[in-house]
Amino acid sequence: PLVDGQIYEDHQITVCVRKRPLSRKEITRKEIDVISVPRKDTIIVHEPRNKVDLTKFLENHKFRFDYAFDDRCDNAMVYKYTAKPLVQTIFDGGMATCFAYGQTGSGKTHTMGGEFNGKVQDCKNGIYAMAARDVFTYLKSPRYRALNLVVSASFFEIYSGKVFDLLSDKQKLRVLEDGKQQVQVVGLTEKVVDSVEEVLKIIQLGNTARTSGQTSANSNSSRSHAVFQIVLRPPGSTKIHGKFSFIDLAGNERGADTSSANRQTRMEGAEINKSLLALKECIRALGKQSAHLPFRVSKLTQVLRDSFIGEKSKTCMIAMISPGLSSCEHTLNTLRYADRVK
Ligand code: ADP
Ligand code: MG
Repeated sequence: PLVDGQIYEDHQITVCVRKRPLSRKEITRKEIDVISVPRKDTIIVHEPRNKVDLTKFLENHKFRFDYAFDDRCDNAMVYKYTAKPLVQTIFDGGMATCFAYGQTGSGKTHTMGGEFNGKVQDCKNGIYAMAARDVFTYLKSPRYRALNLVVSASFFEIYSGKVFDLLSDKQKLRVLEDGKQQVQVVGLTEKVVDSVEEVLKIIQLGNTARTSGQTSANSNSSRSHAVFQIVLRPPGSTKIHGKFSFIDLAGNERGADTSSANRQTRMEGAEINKSLLALKECIRALGKQSAHLPFRVSKLTQVLRDSFIGEKSKTCMIAMISPGLSSCEHTLNTLRYADRVK
């Protein structure tokens, strides 16, 4: 398991992997755990080559990341090593992003939006909320309190290349780019917040809007990217001092839906694929002034443009994986993608 170690605060890009535990359902159907975390930075996928005798013909795929969180780590532990060090970044006038990447069911929403607590998603223990708590702590600290920064929060969803406001009845919003390549989501609800409790209400509202009107069998949330943002501004100014964006990405397996018989599904799959590929390129080029980056290729990278280009930009990606044998192929895809982000 991960033990307290050095936190890589000076890294511009941190890439981690988190393995979730087998669910009760998976244990009941005798799903085999094929993932091991031998060191705090190493993860191994034990892929059986022979589905009949699982003990034989093992092929081990080993990956190294900044951190590897095993199934005993909780959200607080994951937060501490991923998003937490980036709170300082936004107070120092930079942009921060934290991505949850992985297949549907691997734990993205659990990590970002909060753990399940009986029947409801308890947003208090998700990364969004933990970061919000730290934002208010920094705000009142001797070092930053004189800045009198104003905190606001927004929450939207990108579905099939379109932006929907999760804080105003999923209203469809336009994205505009001005001559100076400043990107704006027109009419996005931005609520000024004075306390953690107010942020929690916003997270709850957004989480609910995101999952309303859908069945688990046909889950829209697995096909959309959810973006929660905390913005800091000097008092009385529209200029951004710092911004933290948290992105619960669409299930990466949806990007493979491009051969589906359903035209809508096919198009959504193509869009997800395109955005995840563009995202990889943009993260790899973080902070570099490159004219050739594919920001415009997808709505996701377009709306996050200002978070990629600044010299003070920092990002972390948490690649979520399911432990089961039946997810092996998707898990390898996830790990290979994360490996290439670095
Ligand atoms: P995703 O958003 O990637 O589709 P979820 O976050 O909805 O996946 O997780 C799928 C299920 O697994 C949920 O019921 C969630 O509560 C559970 N789960 C995910 N990660 C963990 C974890 N680390 N510990 C315990 N349960 C988890
Ligand atoms: Mg989810």
